[in-house]
Amino acid sequence: MEIIRSRPQTASPPPEWFTGKVFIDQIAPTDTASRLRAYKVHFTPAARTAWHTHPNGQVIHVTEGVGLAQRRGGPVEQIRAGDSVRFEPGEHHWHGADAMHFMTHLAFHEAGEDGTDANWGEHVTDAEYSAPAADA
Ligand code: MN
Repeated sequence: MEIIRSRPQTASPPPEWFTGKVFIDQIAPTDTASRLRAYKVHFTPAARTAWHTHPNGQVIHVTEGVGLAQRRGGPVEQIRAGDSVRFEPGEHHWHGADAMHFMTHLAFHEAGEDGTDANWGEHVTDAEYSAPAADA
């Protein structure tokens, strides 16, 4: 057993992976054999991930605010505190804050065998981001 005390550990991800200001707190230590990954991700208004996939899929759970998520080929969907979203292995998608709100979600996924969290693609364009969202 190891207690990992709360400490300043917020990091800003590389700009190639996100648009806008995003802050990430690591929840589960990654220096073990476990491939469990857990993060708390804080998005400022209009901030969002780039398009990406996860080798083993992902679940996000919104704890605060209002956000948006989209899978390739689907509509932009509004997500709110209390909602969970599952992304399938290899499914192209993005997630982020609504234009007018902060959004925080927990993110859970299993890294790939080589430790890959995600395979990153192009940024979500303003036109993609601004497409009318389906009502929650
Ligand atoms: Mn994702």
